[in-house]
Amino acid sequence: MIRVAINGYGTIGKRVADAVDAQDDMQIVGVTKTRPAFGCDLAVRKGYPIYCTYDDTDKIAAFAAAGYQCHGGLSDLLGVADIVIDCSPGKVGASNLEKYQQAGVKWIFQGGEKHAMTGMSYTSSANHAANLNVNGTRVVSCNTTGLSRTLVPLYHHCGELSVECTMIRRAADPGDSSKGPINAIKPVLKVPSHHGPDVMTVKPEIIINSMAVAVPTTIMHMHVIVAQLPEGHGLDTESVIEMWANEPRIILMSGGETGITTTAEVMEYARDIGRKWGDLHEIFVWRDGVKLEHNTLYYFQAIHQESDVIPENIDAIRALMGTEPDWRASVARTDNAIAKYNNIL
Ligand code: NAD
Repeated sequence: MIRVAINGYGTIGKRVADAVDAQDDMQIVGVTKTRPAFGCDLAVRKGYPIYCTYDDTDKIAAFAAAGYQCHGGLSDLLGVADIVIDCSPGKVGASNLEKYQQAGVKWIFQGGEKHAMTGMSYTSSANHAANLNVNGTRVVSCNTTGLSRTLVPLYHHCGELSVECTMIRRAADPGDSSKGPINAIKPVLKVPSHHGPDVMTVKPEIIINSMAVAVPTTIMHMHVIVAQLPEGHGLDTESVIEMWANEPRIILMSGGETGITTTAEVMEYARDIGRKWGDLHEIFVWRDGVKLEHNTLYYFQAIHQESDVIPENIDAIRALMGTEPDWRASVARTDNAIAKYNNIL
């Protein structure tokens, strides 16, 4: 059994913990909280040992004072783990790296950290093999994971690919109360945005740029993608759809036939089929929004930001621990185990 620690039991951390718990080759040895607050009760209900993010004795003691059993500080947790999944807020993780290295555990950061900090990034379909047995990596952001899901198989078919895309980003997660905008459209003025170029950290052969705007919605991101395929690609609109239908973690549906024409309806669909937290690990592509005209491919895809990276973290654990060299085998194993709790119909 691979012993997994979760450092940062928030939006991503609690979901990764349950996905780890569902697998038969790994187990949760503990999760950290900064203080005895919201979130500790969930860990108690799940039976995950709680540790304090810090090693300070007064901070650890605060948990017992609030009625929670705390098993120690981060150093104690790292002492019983093989690998730590850092799910701390973006840009905070960098300060934890030295602790992981000193403890001699493997580590996985999330997309809020920079590739330069980790020197290695990960998505299941793009570069599982390159991550085999390395000490640490970064599972790229939800947007970059989503781009990788549909673009990597396209690249493998075409042999070259040049992409321009616009990220229409949710302003905040549903549980956030401090972010915005709430009544404006906010362009990301750093051009190009990091999302597209970040794909090149896992698949450098794909030439890609992106721009991004944040809009007042909390439930999903939307991508508007225009890809230039090389001459002689041999594809048409239907065969592109067919290609994606045969890839894991992509859902294709016709808006016209299903009535699912907005991100609100996509999320309602996820709730209807009984997904835990209403999550949708898959990337949602509208069949009737895909069009290949000569060498130019147009499509939309919707990304459930809180959950598409969750199964990728599980595959990344297997890559780093060197226990499954075949990414498709890992994906199948991860998704089958998650399906048991996720009620996949
Ligand atoms: P979050 O704020 O919901 O959770 C972060 C947790 O880490 C909180 O429980 C917080 O108390 C804890 N924490 C604070 N300081 C810490 C420290 N020094 N060490 C360890 N833990 C600490 O954040 P999140 O949305 O879960 O994001 C976590 C990471 O995942 C970020 O890198 C983010 O960019 C990335 N990510 C987030 C989303 C998303 O939509 N939420 C999607 C993909 C990737």
